[in-house]
Amino acid sequence: MIARVTLELALRKEFDYFIPAELAEQIDVGSRVQVPFGARKVLGCVTALAEESAHTRLKPILKVLGARTLVTPSILKLARWMSEYYCCAPELALKSVLPEAVRQEQAGWRERLYARALPWAGELPKLSKRQKEIWHIAEERRELPLKELIELADTTAATIRRLEDTGLLAISAQISERDPYAREHILPTQTLSLNAAQAKALAAITAAMDAVSEKVSKRANEKRPLAHTFLLHGVTGSGKTEVYLQALAHALEQDRGAIVLVPEISLTPQTVERFKARFSSGPLQTLVAVLHSHLSAGERHDEWHKIRQGRARIVIGARSAIFAPVQPLGLIIVDEEHESTYKQEEAPRYHARDVAIVRGQMEGATVVLGSATPSLESFYNCHRGKYRLLELPERADDKRMPVVRIVDMRQTLRKGKAIPIFSPQLQEAMARRLDRREQAILFLNRRGYSTALQCPVCGYVAGCPNCSLSLTYHRQDQKLRCHICAHTEPVPPLCPNPKCRNPEIRYSGLGTQRVEDTLTRLFPRARIVRMDSDVMKRKDDYRRILGDFRSGKIDILVGTQMIAKGLHFPNVTLVGIIYADLALHQPDFRAGERTFQLLTQVAGRAGRGDVEGEVFVQAFTPFHPAIQCARRHDFAGFYEQEIGFRQQLKYPPLSRIALLTLKGRNEEKVKFSAEHLKGELQKKVGDFKDLILAGPAPAPLLRAETYYRYQIMLRVQRMSALSLRLAELVQALKLPDDVLLSVDIDPVDLA
Ligand code: ADP
Ligand code: ZN
Repeated sequence: MIARVTLELALRKEFDYFIPAELAEQIDVGSRVQVPFGARKVLGCVTALAEESAHTRLKPILKVLGARTLVTPSILKLARWMSEYYCCAPELALKSVLPEAVRQEQAGWRERLYARALPWAGELPKLSKRQKEIWHIAEERRELPLKELIELADTTAATIRRLEDTGLLAISAQISERDPYAREHILPTQTLSLNAAQAKALAAITAAMDAVSEKVSKRANEKRPLAHTFLLHGVTGSGKTEVYLQALAHALEQDRGAIVLVPEISLTPQTVERFKARFSSGPLQTLVAVLHSHLSAGERHDEWHKIRQGRARIVIGARSAIFAPVQPLGLIIVDEEHESTYKQEEAPRYHARDVAIVRGQMEGATVVLGSATPSLESFYNCHRGKYRLLELPERADDKRMPVVRIVDMRQTLRKGKAIPIFSPQLQEAMARRLDRREQAILFLNRRGYSTALQCPVCGYVAGCPNCSLSLTYHRQDQKLRCHICAHTEPVPPLCPNPKCRNPEIRYSGLGTQRVEDTLTRLFPRARIVRMDSDVMKRKDDYRRILGDFRSGKIDILVGTQMIAKGLHFPNVTLVGIIYADLALHQPDFRAGERTFQLLTQVAGRAGRGDVEGEVFVQAFTPFHPAIQCARRHDFAGFYEQEIGFRQQLKYPPLSRIALLTLKGRNEEKVKFSAEHLKGELQKKVGDFKDLILAGPAPAPLLRAETYYRYQIMLRVQRMSALSLRLAELVQALKLPDDVLLSVDIDPVDLA
């Protein structure tokens, strides 16, 4: 037999190897293998088996990794689709479907030595006092880690080994699973009785699940079981999670598993616990595996294999959990489906939500996308009948939606001289909260102290030597820092312009550090804590600060978007957004959508307890529709006006984008290559129906990390045919060695 293998080398090609008889039993499509390649040994994945090969003198497969195939046939199929649709090398797509810890053979199960008391009838052999103590502990516990026994009996391994010689104990290596949540105390929860809107949504979802299930069992060999995608649109607190939980239970009843995707940042212990708690006992009890980037390699290995072995039937995780080997798969939930973190920003540049939908179609799994602020793409797909819309218009917890007040900062500006940080209204509202011992969150999506350092005499601005961006002033360590490439330099004492040397340098633009600073001066007795990626250095900083906030040790929390998502604090009655228009002025057609989402999400943090919440939105363009619609909690209104704008300019969801970016250190060469690429595009895909070709143009951030970047944007009605042609074109394209091309299909970040 011959195995066709995709190697973990950038070759865009498969190679045939022959399967030695002694490995024949273990090798199947999806097996990970080690093979000779030239003088090296490399790892790869078997993607097909064949009777014969067009090549002669095949080399043998050397070794099989893992006891069972790691890449299941359905995941293999998904990886193929990804490589085609996202124009990326198949080996890259294959690589990304397995966690590093599983792919590398080193991180295996952790084995520990256990001591086990053996059954013993009758008289004990003659033992020393110490040995008797050890035996009593072992007998009482039956079995325990050797290390623990040594500690408990205050003895040595050698002493216990001697006891083993008497036949009273056995010491053996056993797999000890690493459970990242072992220390959490999880109490089981009961199914809630749903309100009318929730019940209606759940009924639609379970009916779709049942329909697929029937179809699959009737016509077992049908290629494409019909699967449904739902968009569950419900305001924060409308009880989406309870709907998810009951839909998950239904999947388990059908004897199928499920995947729940949440943005990395919402994978707090709180969220994970809600899912674990429901399935920790009762007839539907199952392990809930968790996959995210804060796990150790060993933990990730163990969690993944619990899924592969079918012991964990529910997986909750961030983006890459969409590739979890759940089988059979009945349900995929994508919570906060509008989140941009679902898009991977390096190759393969996949969008986990879209991969989820494709996987659902392939495997007959029902997909539920949930959000309080759906993406325009998903809502549009409901309008044209591709997805079914389910709405939860009311809060389930009887809390009222917070009152949102827009503060026109132009008025505050007229009164004072400098650009104000706090309007009198917000300041007053904060003072009231402090008096009443309630809590507040202040939000500004920019870290650092000031965003620019400028000489008022000659106009010099401190810029990054590697990027086309000004440096941000960080006061704590007296440094200027680039937020793109992390370049750091000391603050100059004078203007660095040799012709100027003015000693007075000014700072402008504000970041969270300055907000914190100003607050401390305004409210010297308040307990104020800042939370942004400058402060969050250690793994548990996030958890610790949120814990302190929850237990009331902090009055005002200041932060970046890190604090905007999925958090739940009953005593927060005030949320202030310092500059709401910051997100509006991005060179991106989604700027309005992002602003609307951000304001709505942030506002949702207020008033989750018994006291009604209040939100202050400070803005210099208070009448912008994104701000006004967020004030009225009016998604439909926002969608209506935004879709009109997209229609006019033929932007997604009315089209699909392929963004080609060329980068290199020599700007002329990059520009020239971009012109050349455009010529090729015109020749090879210029005939595409409805194609709009724009550029080449400098990227919004022309220079980043010492690279100059130019972009070409293609817009088209249907992407899959175009991306196949693009892949061919890219492969044949000749570029200078120092110019790199990246292809981003359905890009989220246009900078
Ligand atoms: P979402 O996920 O939409 O933000 P949650 O599922 O977190 O909303 O629900 C918000 C609150 O309402 C939670 O405290 C939850 O326990 C409660 N809740 C949800 N559904 C019900 C229900 N049917 N009856 C009573 N309380 C509910
Ligand atoms: Zn830089």
